[in-house]
Amino acid sequence: MKTIGLIGGMSWESTVVYYQLLNRLTREQCGGLHSAQLLLWSFDFAEIEAMQANNDWTAATSAMVDAANRLQLGGAQCIIICTNTMHKMADAVAASVDIPLIHIADATATAIKEAKIQKPLLLATRYTMEQDFYKGHLHNKHGINVLVPNEGDRTVVHNIIYNELCQGIIETKSRQQYQRIVQDAVNDGADGVIFGCTEVGLLLSANDVPVKAFDTTELHAKAALQFALHSS
Ligand code: GLU
Repeated sequence: MKTIGLIGGMSWESTVVYYQLLNRLTREQCGGLHSAQLLLWSFDFAEIEAMQANNDWTAATSAMVDAANRLQLGGAQCIIICTNTMHKMADAVAASVDIPLIHIADATATAIKEAKIQKPLLLATRYTMEQDFYKGHLHNKHGINVLVPNEGDRTVVHNIIYNELCQGIIETKSRQQYQRIVQDAVNDGADGVIFGCTEVGLLLSANDVPVKAFDTTELHAKAALQFALHSS
């Protein structure tokens, strides 16, 4: 089994989900007392969030590159960045280490293509919904075009992530708002929904939405495990 290096803590509410999934899936696949071999670098998210909010992507990139290098030095054999947003600097992170970076959007795209979904809605942070690093990756590498909510609804989705989900707050009212936003997109032709922030799965499950859901946390953890258990 290979060692997976996790860049986490963004927020730790979803890093916990990665940790559980990686271990549960390893037990399911390998049986008995088997569990995943992991190294975790967990950030103080307040520091990272301040860099994001201040548009200091240079400092944020240095922080991610530093974490990846620490994990490699510690013996990690691949890297996963446990947040969609911080894949903004995925290329810089990948270039800074000699081990593979397993990209969250690649794992997601594979599932979208398998399900033959044409027009998924992207629910994510404002950075992921508005900037090109994620939508562009899906489009240029995988030919997938996503829908995003309108400006007002992007603010709703973004604020719920930072003010609630990343702080462990789960509100029925917020679930209903997300469901309404998904329904509006379905009315506009969306045939799937990407839980494009690793905390969205804390609020919404596949059963809460009328179209096929792609939970990036789950898909990313599965892709990392596929590498750790089955690659040569
Ligand atoms: N975990 C979130 C994501 O997947 C948001 C927190 C962050 O900005 O990293 O994008």
